[in-house]
Amino acid sequence: MLVDSHCHLDYLDAPPEESIARAKAAGVAHLLCVGADPEHFDRVLAVVQRAEGVDGSVGIHPLAVTAELAPWDAVVARASAPGVVALGETGLDYADPAAPDRALQGERFAQHLALGAEHGLPVIIHTREAREDTLALLRAAGPRPEAGVLHCFTESWEMAEEAIALGYYVSFSGIVTFKNAAALREVAAKVPAERLLVETDAPWLAPVPHRGRQNEPALLPHTAAVLAQCQGVSPEALARQTTENYRRLFARTSLSA
Ligand SMILES: [Zn+2]
Ligand SMILES: [Zn+2]
Repeated sequence: MLVDSHCHLDYLDAPPEESIARAKAAGVAHLLCVGADPEHFDRVLAVVQRAEGVDGSVGIHPLAVTAELAPWDAVVARASAPGVVALGETGLDYADPAAPDRALQGERFAQHLALGAEHGLPVIIHTREAREDTLALLRAAGPRPEAGVLHCFTESWEMAEEAIALGYYVSFSGIVTFKNAAALREVAAKVPAERLLVETDAPWLAPVPHRGRQNEPALLPHTAAVLAQCQGVSPEALARQTTENYRRLFARTSLSA
């Protein structure tokens, strides 16, 4: 069995129950539905509470941060809600020209990191073209075991290495299957087995050979197969290892041992 460590069931065209059923039929037995927008939290938590095999998280995506504090209060209010196993996604995104002010992104990111430390919750981090500032904030928050995960990782081995030293895991999405992603596959080969996770980030980033269609958790095995090749292990071993890693990182998971 595989675990999709990062998906957004609330953004899929299909009803969550249908996506979950198709995932299970494809061997993806457990999912983490990541909250990215406070306006969706109730929807995310309703799925988590209704469906078997789904964990949840609450956070504000760096592209969704605003100067108002009400959305942040909504994160704080739900940090200990049943089914919430992590904070995020949060982080820094400098790749999008329409991205919110960088200082504001950094302020919210630091708040998620502090709240995670306070609650003993791992933090799910989105980082694009913001390597130095991301690392500076992770350093400032300090090392901590099972601190969180750099999700949908597309940056350098040097960045992964420093984050791993601070207690973070590294998760790869369908991008690692893309033809032009040879450098990223080299990074994936270097990540220590016990710090590796796999995700879809559905509905975005469908893996090869499904590029161009809407991604969904059922497509995770394609990405897992490529990651297994990178690590030089069988798909079964990769599935076992990443499931074990998921359980260790997201200690509040409903996934039984
Ligand atoms: Zn993201
Ligand atoms: Zn995401």
